[in-house]
Amino acid sequence: MVEDTPGIHHVTGIVGDAQPSLDFYADVLGLRLVKRTVNHEDILRHHLYYGNGTGALGSLFTAFPYPGDPPGRVGKPQVAAVGFAVPPGSLDYWASRLEGRGVDPEYRERFDGTVLRFEDPDGTHVELVAGESPLDSWESGPVPAESAIRGIHGVTVLPTNPYATASTLKTLGFDLVGEEPEPAGKDGAEGSAGYSGTRVRYRAPGDAATVVDLLDRDVAYGREGPGTLHHVAVRVGSEAELFEWHDLFRERDYHVSRVRDRIYYRSIYVRGPGGVLFELATEGPGLAVDEPGAPETMGESLVLPDWAEEDREMIESQLPPISPPRVEST
Ligand code: ZN
Repeated sequence: MVEDTPGIHHVTGIVGDAQPSLDFYADVLGLRLVKRTVNHEDILRHHLYYGNGTGALGSLFTAFPYPGDPPGRVGKPQVAAVGFAVPPGSLDYWASRLEGRGVDPEYRERFDGTVLRFEDPDGTHVELVAGESPLDSWESGPVPAESAIRGIHGVTVLPTNPYATASTLKTLGFDLVGEEPEPAGKDGAEGSAGYSGTRVRYRAPGDAATVVDLLDRDVAYGREGPGTLHHVAVRVGSEAELFEWHDLFRERDYHVSRVRDRIYYRSIYVRGPGGVLFELATEGPGLAVDEPGAPETMGESLVLPDWAEEDREMIESQLPPISPPRVEST
């Protein structure tokens, strides 16, 4: 028997140049670069992991830089926005921090809470959600602890078929929380009377990174590329369970990948009739597995999967240089 997922493992987006994105997530948002590695499907490209101080599950946001690629377009079926959890009362600090760095945030009221919405340098939709989180922030980061990001709050997905994606979420162990009309916003999605579709909230039973909002909205198809989110991964306890999930989704005629070894976790990718790409990823062995100095030295140097190590010199010469994030306190 498969167990309900406790929540989100990580969220992955596509960015353009690595450096502006790194500066944004590390310097502006104050996340720690916890892993500097390569895209296993394309080893001449970076794969950068951001998280809290220890890179805890539920805090991870990862980026695939595709410098020079034409920008993507947010649409269905995609993960449309990523939300990070920040402490209650910190949103005014964040609004002024973001405005001071050329970002234009917008407040939203949503499910009894307040949210700050903005775009990263590539146009990816990012949100800060005020609320309690059991995760710690990064103590040595540039944002004071009373305001710092604690991890992922959740994601918003735009399915082609909301009922189908709702069914996928229920299968994974998410429960329906409620729904409310979604106000039209700066993203151009206009609707009648200032509303543009319906936001339906699902929550996983864990204690962090548990929210998936399903946006039932009439929008065009998106295009993968910088400025879009690629997938959301949910947590699975063991590799044995991963194989059970693999068989369960295959029996339901979902597109299911074989089990992949991502070094830090094993995973499968699942695309159901709702169209949104979900990954199911094991909780172990974790980010420290190839960094003996973890957590202190995480993210400082390029780590490669063993099978790519013999090509390290070539890979390093091909990857665009990135400078470590400046960490400035304000
Ligand atoms: Zn992933």
